[in-house]
Amino acid sequence: MLVKNIYQTIGNTPLLQLDVPAANDVKIFAKLEMFNPGGSVKDRLGVNLIESGIKRGQIKYGTTIIEPTAGNTGIGVALAAQRHGLPVKLVVPEKFSQEKQILMKALGAEIIHTASEDGIVGAIDKAKALAHEIDNSYVPLQFENPDNPKAYAQTLGPEIIADLAGKKIDAFVAGSGSGGTFVGVTQALQKKFPEMKAITVEPEGSILNDGVEHPHRTEGIGVEFVPPFFKEITVDGVKTISDDDAFSNVKWLAKNEGLFAGSSSGAALAAALQVAEELPRNSNIVTIFPDSSERYLSKGIYD
Ligand code: PMP
Repeated sequence: MLVKNIYQTIGNTPLLQLDVPAANDVKIFAKLEMFNPGGSVKDRLGVNLIESGIKRGQIKYGTTIIEPTAGNTGIGVALAAQRHGLPVKLVVPEKFSQEKQILMKALGAEIIHTASEDGIVGAIDKAKALAHEIDNSYVPLQFENPDNPKAYAQTLGPEIIADLAGKKIDAFVAGSGSGGTFVGVTQALQKKFPEMKAITVEPEGSILNDGVEHPHRTEGIGVEFVPPFFKEITVDGVKTISDDDAFSNVKWLAKNEGLFAGSSSGAALAAALQVAEELPRNSNIVTIFPDSSERYLSKGIYD
C-alpha cells in the first residue's frame, strides 16, 4: 500500500472476530483501533476537531490549539495539528501514562500538567484559563464539542457496517471517557439496526452506575460527570468492570489472540462477555478496542 502522507492511514482498521467462548454462541467482533498511526481511536477525533475548526474559521494561521486530555486525544490532536503547522498545548493530569506524554511531545506538543486529584475537570478548567491568556487560541474541548461524536458517526460506524458485510448487529458495547466514540458509533449503527442495544462500559470508580468516584488503573474510560452526548441516544445499559477483570482480559488477549490491547479494551471485552449472557443464541456483538498495551508498559500492564 503506497500512501502519500500518514493521515491517509487513519481509519479503515481491521474488525477482528474474537475466538472467545462467549455465552449463547454469541460472536464478538472488535474494531482494532490501535492500528491507527497515532495508536488509538482518537486519531479520528483529532483530524475531525482540527479540520472542522479550520472550516468554521475558529482555527487560523498560527492559532494555538489547547486541549484537556487523558492522552490519546492529545496524540490525535497533535498529529492533526502538525499537518497545518499549528502550535499545540495539551493539559494532562499527571497520573496518565508516560508513554502517551512522550509521544505527544515527539509530535511537537507542549504538555501542561494538572494535579491528578483534580481529575479531568481540573484539566478542563486549566485549558479554559489558558485560552483566556493566549491570543489566537482555540480549545476544541472534546467533552462538549459535537464534532466528537460526529467524528465516529461519520467514519467508525459506517466502517463497522461495511466490515460485517450484511451481518446484523444485536449489541454495541464500548467504553466511555468523553462518550464520543460510544454515542457516535451508536448513532451510525442504529440507523441500520434500530433494535440494536447500546451498552457502555466504565471502570469501578466511575459514576454512571451511581458508583462512588475513586482512582482506577483502567485508563481512558470512566467519567466524573455524565457525558452531555448521552442525551442524543438511549443508553440501554452500563457495565461497571473492575480493574482486575479488565487486566486479566488484557493478558488473555495477548496469550490467545496475539493482540496487544490496552486496559480499556480489556474492560470492553469483559463487558461484552457479560452482555453475551443476556442475548439470544447466535447474536452478534461489536465492541471497540481503543488502543494498545504498549503505551502502558511502564505501568506494568502485564505484571
Ligand atoms: N479508551 C482509551 C484508551 C481512551 O484513551 C479513550 C479516550 N479517553 C477511550 C477509551 C474512550 O473514548 P471516548 O472519549 O470517545 O469515550
